[in-house]
Amino acid sequence: MNQEGFLATLMDVNTPDSPAQAFTSEDGVPNARGRVLGGSSAINAGFYSRADQEFYQKSGVNWDLTLVNQSYEWVERAVVFRPVLKNWQSAVRDGLLEAGIDPYNGFTLEHMVGTKIGGSTFDSLGRRHSAADLLSYARASNIIVGIHATVERILLAHSSSKAGSGPSAIGVIYSDPIGRFHHAMVREEGEVILCAGTIGSPQLLLLSGIGPRPYLSSWGIPVAHHHPHVGQFLYDNPRNGISIVPPVPLEHSLIQVVGITEGGSYVEAASNVIPFSSPAHSAFLRAPSSRLYLTVATLMEKIPGPVSAGSLRLASTDVRVNPIVRFNYFSNPVDLESCVNGTRRIGDVLRSRSMGYFKFLEWLGRRNFRFVGPALPVDQSNFRQMAEFCRRTVSTIWHYHGGCVVGKVVDRKFNVIGIGGLRVVDGSTFTLSPGTNPQASLMMLGRYVGVKMIRERVGK
Ligand SMILES: Cc1cc2nc3c(=O)[nH]c(=O)nc-3n(C[C@H](O)[C@H](O)[C@H](O)COP(=O)(O)OP(=O)(O)OC[C@H]3O[C@@H](n4cnc5c(N)ncnc54)[C@H](O)[C@@H]3O)c2cc1C
Repeated sequence: MNQEGFLATLMDVNTPDSPAQAFTSEDGVPNARGRVLGGSSAINAGFYSRADQEFYQKSGVNWDLTLVNQSYEWVERAVVFRPVLKNWQSAVRDGLLEAGIDPYNGFTLEHMVGTKIGGSTFDSLGRRHSAADLLSYARASNIIVGIHATVERILLAHSSSKAGSGPSAIGVIYSDPIGRFHHAMVREEGEVILCAGTIGSPQLLLLSGIGPRPYLSSWGIPVAHHHPHVGQFLYDNPRNGISIVPPVPLEHSLIQVVGITEGGSYVEAASNVIPFSSPAHSAFLRAPSSRLYLTVATLMEKIPGPVSAGSLRLASTDVRVNPIVRFNYFSNPVDLESCVNGTRRIGDVLRSRSMGYFKFLEWLGRRNFRFVGPALPVDQSNFRQMAEFCRRTVSTIWHYHGGCVVGKVVDRKFNVIGIGGLRVVDGSTFTLSPGTNPQASLMMLGRYVGVKMIRERVGK
């Protein structure tokens, strides 16, 4: 899939062959998850940026920072590219700097206060690279990749001594597309490593009997291990922003530039060329071949953390059915304040000279933006109005995380507490989303834990 396919994939989530699976949280915010090899990295916007220092300090893991850096580099050699900015992203970069989000840090993969161009998992031809590309490092004789395989349950047994008196993971049951069941069993010192993501990993633990005892019993699921925090501490970073129709056609661009403020606001942008059919809007349209297209340019902000937490619970014992999730956006006033600060920065960028080119000439020579959807409140100093804008226009940036967090469900080495031979290695273990965007750190994490496991075994 190339860059242009990004929106089409998200609009096509309900077809059986879509690489994305839609879900809507109880907060009423539509969301999506990847369901192909590579997970959401195979459907995402491709922005690549390493974690911030706060993440290393607060994520509950004793990070070996040398190995962290080596792991990032391992990922970057395979899937990260330097994007070339075109008109909208260049204007946003200039607008961020005019708005005082400085210094200009140029192209960097590091998390730095100021304005920067980040990495991209789209190459110079716009082709996507994803976590699945990292399989090119694998020794083919050592790995079997099962596709169209849905894990139904983790198999647990009390016979092993790995977890002392508790149960140990001995394999998984998975089904193929025509509903036949298969086993994949661990061998010798092997382990089950769950990487089903923030929605899939807590769901699979619950379905396998690892979760709060009374809750599992209410579903008739035999309890293998009472684990009160599975599915708890679930977070999603809210996205708020504005969209405009520019007076000139723009190229398609996903996120390439980010402004990071001292106060922790992250401002990003995208421009999408969307198929459109109303001739009434012909002033805004361009028509290569017989189709009509509308360009929509977006400025968005998202908040670090966040601190508002929600939870996940089962909707069914069928693993294919999305669990029910609630993120409780802005239930903590700290997040609301962050959103107000971030949306004010969008206002600053809109007032910059660089953004002037994207206004329409109107009556009496006045120039104005044409907004698609709500504009920012006119009085941006009014906290109440800005907070109301945040609540009313909240959507997701798809960086949901938590549900199997470090210190509650897994230990510092990502072992499921109380269960032998079972780790969770994905975004469900994070209490904070790393940096401006998580995929860099999630791919790093896979390599990091893998190397740690090899070292542990060699040490034995
Ligand atoms: C639309 C979108 C845009 C995004 N844009 C960006 C961006 O620009 N930059 C960025 O850094 N991040 C972005 N993200 C976020 C990033 O892609 C995710 O945070 C990251 O991919 C999560 O990784 P993960 O390993 O935790 O889980 P996932 O990527 O969700 O992977 C989980 C995998 O497990 C599989 N799975 C789940 N349950 C089962 C089961 N029972 N049996 C078998 N397989 C199962 C899923 O199919 C999936 O392949 C975006 C995400 C989305 C959805």
